Amino acid sequence: MCSVPSTVTSPSLYTHAMRTTHVVLSIGAAAVLAFTVGATVARSQQNTPEAGYTDTPLVPGTPYHVHDPGRPRPAVITPGAEPGQPPSDAVVLFDGKDLSKWSAVTFGTAEYTQHDTPAPWKVENGYFEVVPGSGGIATREKFGDVQVHIEWAAPASRRGNSQNRGNSGLFLMGLYEIQILDNYENPTYADGTAGAIYGQWPPLVNPLRPAGAWQAYDVVFEAPRWEGATLVKPAYFTVFVNGVVVQNRKASMGPMIWRNAPTYVPHAPEGPIGLQDHDHPVRFRNIWVRRLGGYDGKPLE
Ligand code: MG
Repeated sequence: MCSVPSTVTSPSLYTHAMRTTHVVLSIGAAAVLAFTVGATVARSQQNTPEAGYTDTPLVPGTPYHVHDPGRPRPAVITPGAEPGQPPSDAVVLFDGKDLSKWSAVTFGTAEYTQHDTPAPWKVENGYFEVVPGSGGIATREKFGDVQVHIEWAAPASRRGNSQNRGNSGLFLMGLYEIQILDNYENPTYADGTAGAIYGQWPPLVNPLRPAGAWQAYDVVFEAPRWEGATLVKPAYFTVFVNGVVVQNRKASMGPMIWRNAPTYVPHAPEGPIGLQDHDHPVRFRNIWVRRLGGYDGKPLE
């Protein structure tokens, strides 16, 4: 608290004091100053750089003032020790040991059939590998809006060309595919290259490493929304390949479909994350997912 002076010596107040008594003026000025200082301190407890401000305009479209001290603070999580490692709120889907979080799946046209049988791929040396011809795999847990990290490596043999080399695919909700392909110095159609929303949107650039090297995908996926049978929000993909953005919140036109135009079909709000068997022994490691929420503790809209 500030101390209040017992006398006032400013020239203007001193002129006024000459027409009253010095004692009355001193008491009155002290009261006014005490009230002013008290009110200022009370207000400043909220309106400081440390606490935030409530004497500011509202952030448009929100109930919060600019720099509002009452706005919910984001949850504290622990990031991975190294880039690409799972943060504390991630669901680890493969940690190098087993495929217990996965089961067999059959991908169809704008649909999938998940089986209760174990994922038929092989695990060794901290990665798992597609067993060609055994069928796809999908997570037993289902997800909607997510951030996904996955690392993959195409066979170093570089056998085959175009789509017939190091081909697999990352399926969100069992339906929406981001292409996995060894198109490093291997020309093929653009909307089928690594990082493409398959059959729709090529990646913005091709940042692939050579076959045999580990490639990292970081994907942000927003699930589509329906009201009844009406699509009110398409699925959105943001994708980084080896740290380079290749899809920038791009709307998907619908589930992956080969040699045909995509269309949306209403489906459940959550689905599995799937990986495709395209007859090539592609390897995978370090896979984790985070469910995505919205701002201020609310669900993503
Ligand atoms: Mg594929």
